[in-house]
Formats: sequence, C-alpha cells, structure tokens
Amino acid sequence: MLQYNVRDILADPRIVITVEETLDLPSVSFGKEEIPIVQPPVVQGKIRNVEGNVLEFQGVVRLTVKMPCSRCMTDVEVPLSPAFSQRFIPAEALGQAEADEEAEVFSEYRLDLADFVTNEIRLGIPMKVLCREDCKGLCPKCGHDLNEGPCGCDLREEDPRLEVLRSLLQNKDRD
Ligand SMILES: [Zn+2]
Ligand SMILES: [Zn+2]
Repeated sequence: MLQYNVRDILADPRIVITVEETLDLPSVSFGKEEIPIVQPPVVQGKIRNVEGNVLEFQGVVRLTVKMPCSRCMTDVEVPLSPAFSQRFIPAEALGQAEADEEAEVFSEYRLDLADFVTNEIRLGIPMKVLCREDCKGLCPKCGHDLNEGPCGCDLREEDPRLEVLRSLLQNKDRD
C-alpha cells in the first residue's frame, strides 16, 4: 500500500500523481498502547515534482479511532483528519540537492509513503478525549460512573481547601 513508482514524475514535472487509498490498518501504536482503528484510514493527496528532483506529498488522512474517555474510561469513537505536507528527495540526488533537513529520502524511483502516513496518524492522536464536554468522571472513592447519577459517597471533606474557606467565612461572619 502507498507505494508509487515516481520515475515518470521525476522526468516530467508536469505530471501529478493523485493518491487515493484506503489503508488496511487495524490499529496504530501510541506510546505503550495500541489504539484500535474503527474506520479504516482513507488517504487523499497529490504527489508533485516541486524542484526538479524534489517531490512533495500533500494531503490528508481521515479515520476514526477508539479511545477511552480520560475521565470515565468509556470508549469514545474519535474522528481524526490530520493534514500533512512532506518533501521527499531521491537518494541519487542527495549530493546535488540543497540540504533539506526536513525532507525524507527515497531510492530506486520507489516512493513508499506507508511509514510516513502511519506516523502522521500517530501524531494526530489526541492525548486526551472526553465522551462529552461535561463528563463527570468516576467517583474517586468507589469508582462509580458519576454520569449515571450520584453514588452516595461523601466527598466533601476530601478537599482541605474547602475547610480553609469555610473557616475564613465563619470568621468573617463573626466580625
Ligand atoms: Zn467520560
Ligand atoms: Zn462513590
């Protein structure tokens, strides 16, 4: 998947390669976790010859992943659509091409975009997701999902800052 023979486009800059592929990628590794992909990634983009022998791949990948809500741990389906723009230089032209730290290197007229796109997917995964804006999360004492209603735990004395505030207010009343 995502492999292109770019011999023609290197020879003729007027040629543009249209990329339109659905990837067979059931999950993506993210740190120590493996994030399931529930809607397969669809890659759409163009490969252009931008500077004689420098190719540029511009596009977007759309997919849906499944991640636990950061507060209540319920699975959430998260649609992602990271966009990207990346330059690729043929190894054979490295000596002549101007040093471009950002560019990736390919050889033998074969441009393999699979690793690049997988990495873009990884970069597009959010650190935190919420099942809904006002998710109440889990009770810190008993683990009950507070979205389903209160559990009856008394959490008031948990926060010492409230105690301070309360005594301040009492002193104020006395004045
Ligand atoms: Zn939640
Ligand atoms: Zn509780």
